[in-house]
Amino acid sequence: MKILVTGGTGLIGSAIKEICNNYKYEFIFLSSKDCNLEDFNETNKLFNKIKPDYVIHLAAYVGGLFKNLKYKVDMLEKNVMINHNVLKCSHIYNVKKVVSCLSTCIFPDKTTYPINENMLHDGPPHKSNDAYAYAKRLLEIQSKSYQEQYNKNFICVIPTNIYGSNDNFSLEDGHCIPSLIHRCYIAKKENKPFKVLGTGKPLRQFIYSEDLAELIIWVLEKYDNKDSIILSVSEKDEVSINDVVKEISKCFNYTNIKYDTSFSDGQYKKTADNNKLIKLYGNYNFTKIDKGIRNTVEWFIKNYDNCRK
Ligand code: GDP
Repeated sequence: MKILVTGGTGLIGSAIKEICNNYKYEFIFLSSKDCNLEDFNETNKLFNKIKPDYVIHLAAYVGGLFKNLKYKVDMLEKNVMINHNVLKCSHIYNVKKVVSCLSTCIFPDKTTYPINENMLHDGPPHKSNDAYAYAKRLLEIQSKSYQEQYNKNFICVIPTNIYGSNDNFSLEDGHCIPSLIHRCYIAKKENKPFKVLGTGKPLRQFIYSEDLAELIIWVLEKYDNKDSIILSVSEKDEVSINDVVKEISKCFNYTNIKYDTSFSDGQYKKTADNNKLIKLYGNYNFTKIDKGIRNTVEWFIKNYDNCRK
């Protein structure tokens, strides 16, 4: 059984690669160098050559809050094209199941908490990432349409904020944990303040990439439902950006921290409900955030020269 993983060298794809030997499948990890998924003919050729049984669709044009604010056209157009091509080719080549990745940042901005799977389309997303959010919401609509018109097993998972090794540690375009790790590393080296963007008050539920990798394979193998499922730590494990900053500062043993409140905070919170996951999976033993951040910092230092940044 062949599993094609699009976005195979990204944050989640690399985490699946780490654990793939625990499973009996043949995994094919696709990177943007192997195929331009924005191009239908290239995507079609690739599917024709590989003929995958399953697809884990992770490829996306992504970034942190500040990249979302800067590149709205790319966020919308690139993601719509990638998703269109991957789902269409999965249909043409009779892929048995497609698991595509959404994000809790695409939920409505004005909502009640905790957010659950049924609330995805109940109002506009936060203005800061609306282009990305609408492209990803469309991926769910497209998956559901294939279910309804062609009876396909195309489904979506909705993880909360992900972090771990092999992330993009770009100072400008990365998500908060990798950007902050990189910034603290430089601040310590140059003996300058460790700059945090925004107030540090927003709340997030962070999931470690290797936990998410395991849960995605569980969804592929065992989740028998056509509706999307949130993959997240529980509400009580929600932390503030300040908490994350403290953990990073502890790892580097560097406490000269400065908040630059001229930067946006983005959405204050997007607390998600993981009850559906717990009900179906049972209690998952999530990696604690202090341990996950420590592992990520160690990985970053060890791979400084060659990592994405
Ligand atoms: P989001 O959950 O989609 O908003 O994604 P981010 O990972 O970009 O998290 C953003 C939160 O972290 C916001 O409240 C930012 O203001 C805060 N933050 C603090 N420093 C940084 C940084 O260096 N990069 C990013 N991306 N966010 C930062």
